Amino acid sequence: SIYARSEDIFRRDELLMGTVVSIQIVHSDSKTASGLIDRTFSIMKEMVNRMDAHREDSEVSLLNREGAKRPVRVSKELFDVISLALKVSKISDGAFDITVGPLIKLWPVYKRSGFTIPDPSLVQKTLQKVGWQYILLNPQKQTVMFTKEGVSIDLGGIAKGYIVDRAVEFLKSQGVNGALVNAGGDIYALGTAPQGKPWRIGIQHPRDPRKLIAVLELRDLGVVTSGDYERYVIKNGIRYTHIIDPRTGFTVRETASVSVVGKPAAFIDALATAVMVEGAEKGMSLLESLPSVEALIITQDKKNPSELLYTCTPGFLDYTVWRAF
Ligand code: ADP
Ligand code: MG
Ligand code: MG
Repeated sequence: SIYARSEDIFRRDELLMGTVVSIQIVHSDSKTASGLIDRTFSIMKEMVNRMDAHREDSEVSLLNREGAKRPVRVSKELFDVISLALKVSKISDGAFDITVGPLIKLWPVYKRSGFTIPDPSLVQKTLQKVGWQYILLNPQKQTVMFTKEGVSIDLGGIAKGYIVDRAVEFLKSQGVNGALVNAGGDIYALGTAPQGKPWRIGIQHPRDPRKLIAVLELRDLGVVTSGDYERYVIKNGIRYTHIIDPRTGFTVRETASVSVVGKPAAFIDALATAVMVEGAEKGMSLLESLPSVEALIITQDKKNPSELLYTCTPGFLDYTVWRAF
């Protein structure tokens, strides 16, 4: 009707979880849109404070301190994210495992200069503190317990996706029917962009940040990319990244990036990390066993690491409107 106001995109970016989080919403009123974005960021920040293992006062840190001594009652949100993480551990044969924390400390790729390769015997010893089977959940009491001393959790491989889901859930509850939430490559496209168009999302080239590898069109779906190109060190020509195989204790090799389309974002976030660990072959069979997820896996050629190989599920191509592979 002539009274309908035109809809615009309102966007804000903030630094959260060590990454840029951007929220875009389709709305007809800038003041309302701005208020909604404020509240969405508050919700996201509250979740981060709860789930960040590096903050001493977070709920996760409390659980890590107490969990081996007694069952700890946790919030519904934390209980749900741990349950989902365990589900992905089970289907991925332990490739995804939130108890990897002690191993992550052995591979400090975050401090690019102080990085040294850990002694294999130390890796072996540390593996004793790792295993998703040591996490015991009680859904009735909403408690979490670790059945082994030294076990702890690190939600780095799933929390971003979960927080994106909470943001989207809030926006939906407020009647927003078009939004794009992006937490550093963990993306959810709610509804549509203005004029009912699908949201367009570029997937970055894992070796050249200026290039795209694909452009996707999505509505009411998430896409999460996990890769070896943002947090890594190169030593003696070998790339050591921040994703670890919890079964061997060594960092992932050969998988350059994995992009998974599906929902919820928390699930595909964990799945992307699992497929990073499993690589193209096992990763594809995991993906094919799951309904309604599609993915693109980019690996380095074993003999010629500068050569990239592309493997995707057939359904992934249904979302691409442009691709360079
Ligand atoms: P991104 O850093 O792009 O979000 P991921 O979602 O793959 O990438 O998360 C990587 C983080 O997950 C690491 O920094 C670490 O905290 C944690 N992590 C590393 N290896 C694993 C694993 N095998 N299973 C679960 N979490 C992991
Ligand atoms: Mg992940
Ligand atoms: Mg992630």
